[in-house]
Amino acid sequence: MGGGHFPGDEVVAHEAVCGGDVDPRDVGKLEHGCEHYRRRCKIVAPCCGQVFPCRHCHNEATASGDRHTICRQDVEKVVCLLCDTEQLVSQVCVSCGVNMGEYFCDICKFYDDDIEKGQYHCNDCGICRIGGKENFFHCVNCGSCYSVALRDNHQCVENSMRQNCPICYEYLFDSLQETRVLNCGHTMHMECFSDMVQHNKYTCPICSKTALDMSRHWEALDQEIEATIMPHAYRYKIWVLCNDCNKVSEVNFHVIGHKCSHCNSYNTRSTSRPAD
Ligand SMILES: [Zn+2]
Ligand SMILES: [Zn+2]
Ligand SMILES: [Zn+2]
Ligand SMILES: [Zn+2]
Ligand SMILES: [Zn+2]
Ligand SMILES: [Zn+2]
Ligand SMILES: [Zn+2]
Ligand SMILES: [Zn+2]
Repeated sequence: MGGGHFPGDEVVAHEAVCGGDVDPRDVGKLEHGCEHYRRRCKIVAPCCGQVFPCRHCHNEATASGDRHTICRQDVEKVVCLLCDTEQLVSQVCVSCGVNMGEYFCDICKFYDDDIEKGQYHCNDCGICRIGGKENFFHCVNCGSCYSVALRDNHQCVENSMRQNCPICYEYLFDSLQETRVLNCGHTMHMECFSDMVQHNKYTCPICSKTALDMSRHWEALDQEIEATIMPHAYRYKIWVLCNDCNKVSEVNFHVIGHKCSHCNSYNTRSTSRPAD
């Protein structure tokens, strides 16, 4: 997952440099950086004073040993990669005049030459995000930026994104990976979700509700059940609790599954007879 950096970018940048009338701020654009970002500076870690290409590089390097993470807003100094000048954080190098990042955020002290990612700073999140400001809105209840497709169209869960992914346990809020909002409003990495579905698990690991549209699958179960007649000894009723609508219903016992009589979901489990 390269994050939208196409191989052709570098070729274009070189041509521009050789062309002569290149903007001095664009010198070296997209030619420098680390595996995380294209940028023309390194950062001086405010915590340990060491110089790293980016905060992820720092956090990876310190993960085995004196484990600590950078608070991005605390970065004060950077080192220009073109002229090696250490200086206070700003977009343009005070010495050689290049943009140390085509995208620059003064709050996050964040630099990235690859603006095809559509970086923007969300004031409510307090961090920079990618994907294009126009494609996202900040949901105050969920405490994060969500795709505009979900505006007025999702189950809000308070601080849903300020949790760890229930599959891999990485903190979701500022994860570099894409996340998915399930029907129940809980969130997890897109990739972790696909893994889960590939292992034939279709329910939210947090609340057990059905995580995606299963209506076709439920219809197939209807037919299977109709075609599979239970022997006399097994023809009795049981009570089930529906994981999707939280209601109980009394249904015919069947080896294949038990359908909620309120919402038609087969995501049910047997329960004791209700008190009244
Ligand atoms: Zn890095
Ligand atoms: Zn410089
Ligand atoms: Zn920012
Ligand atoms: Zn936001
Ligand atoms: Zn929400
Ligand atoms: Zn995950
Ligand atoms: Zn859930
Ligand atoms: Zn139900």
